[in-house]
Amino acid sequence: MKEVFKVAIYLRLSIEDKDKLNRLDDSESIKNQRHMLMEVINNNPSYNLVGEYCDEDLSGAGTYRPEFERLINDCENGKIDIVLCKSQSRFSRDMEIVERYINNKFKEWNVRFISLSDNADTENPGNKKSRQINGLVNEWYLEDVSNNIRSAFNSKMKQGEFISPFAPFGYLVDSSNNNKLVVDKGACLVVKDIFNLYLKGYGYSAIAKYLNDKNIPSPSLHKYRQGIKLNVVSNKAREDIKWNSNAIKTILKNEVYLGKLVQGKRTTVSYKNHKIINKDKCLWISYPNTHEAIIDEDTFNKVQREMKNRTKPRGSSTVHLFSGKVFCLECEHYLRKKNSSKHEYLVCSNNSTCSNKSSIRYDKLVSIVLLEVNKLLDKFYDEELLKEKINKKYNEIYKGKLISLESELVSIKRKIDESKNYLKNLYEDKVNGVISLEMFKTLVSSYEDNKGRYSKQLDNVNKKISIYKENIKDFDNKIITKYKKLDNLNRVIVNEFIDKIYVGEVKDNIRIIKIKWNF
Ligand SMILES: [Zn+2]
Repeated sequence: MKEVFKVAIYLRLSIEDKDKLNRLDDSESIKNQRHMLMEVINNNPSYNLVGEYCDEDLSGAGTYRPEFERLINDCENGKIDIVLCKSQSRFSRDMEIVERYINNKFKEWNVRFISLSDNADTENPGNKKSRQINGLVNEWYLEDVSNNIRSAFNSKMKQGEFISPFAPFGYLVDSSNNNKLVVDKGACLVVKDIFNLYLKGYGYSAIAKYLNDKNIPSPSLHKYRQGIKLNVVSNKAREDIKWNSNAIKTILKNEVYLGKLVQGKRTTVSYKNHKIINKDKCLWISYPNTHEAIIDEDTFNKVQREMKNRTKPRGSSTVHLFSGKVFCLECEHYLRKKNSSKHEYLVCSNNSTCSNKSSIRYDKLVSIVLLEVNKLLDKFYDEELLKEKINKKYNEIYKGKLISLESELVSIKRKIDESKNYLKNLYEDKVNGVISLEMFKTLVSSYEDNKGRYSKQLDNVNKKISIYKENIKDFDNKIITKYKKLDNLNRVIVNEFIDKIYVGEVKDNIRIIKIKWNF
């Protein structure tokens, strides 16, 4: 028997406690648990407190509880003789965990578990059944309470009450009414900046970079500096949590800045499985005018439209006429397509540092390029040269084929000639009595078969040759008339004529467009 026991106390504040308590004095319950357990330790001279493990804001089911993990670790490493809890349910409400640790592993590690209010003590073997019953009741309770919390939260959301423990960036939870949001004077300016920068053409990552360069604290760092404890366990130092594209996108999409509460966007799978899943948009609970707006409706809607335009439409696989060929004259980045309800536009993709900010209407660029192509044709149109060029082209395509067809033709004709000779010899053999009449008849009929086959082959090849020749003539005429003056552009013509198109800035109402030809 040891003289002195290393005792650890485990405290937990659960979500269900939080719902009952006021958000501001949520330490009360932890304080009570600690008080109760310390009394036991102080009254028992053989108990020596070696550690306090405290999980706040975390539920008793299977979520990640960092302090709980630490406790289990220290138990396994022999640092603890006794684990002391207010009740078994503080330790865990999950039967599986109770079974695994209290009834199994602790025995293996020589750790005694004592919970005060439900009189569980692993030193007392008759106690096991009651521990298991406690466990079961706790599990049922958890399911029950989880349903109750969900419905309580739902009804609060439906009344337009803010129920999350954390205010979205730009707001604070009202100190006199924790279901209401008030504007955070500093952060709201950052939110306004984000919306304005986006409308100026900044992308998500460009905005994030801009804010990081200005050393503006990210939402999580901002929360941390306000003394708000976060639920997330991150290895990163708080100061290192920077703005990123996702944070920007989330802010730009959040209707909370319109003074509207949209809640219940996500839920957990069940009271045991705390994996977060997104709910269908039609199930979100929305309530207007619950707090002061930071962004006006007009700006917000513009941003939403812009967000749609900047992303490429899904499912459309068509490449535009100049795809991969249009570049910015100022910075040489490619121009990306941008759709609006009426027209399509192209704009420099380097929207953070390039001065070439204004977009160009796609159809206007097409007609400008068409005009330039026609000017070029006008200047250089030379039917002879073109014919020569075309000749070269269709020689590449057709000549090889024609040559092989013509040689096929020759070989068939030769075979026909040979078979005519063969017939003549055969006849002589028959007259000279070299072969019988029977044999002669058989050989003649096989000659007729061959003759039929050869003439069919001859027909086929001749047909093919004439089709090719017709194509060549047609190709010739079509191309010559087509290239004389163009009515419109297509991808083939663009590829044939144009290497790159450079679009410059608008200066004094003039925009320079340079075309680098393929010649
Ligand atoms: Zn540019």
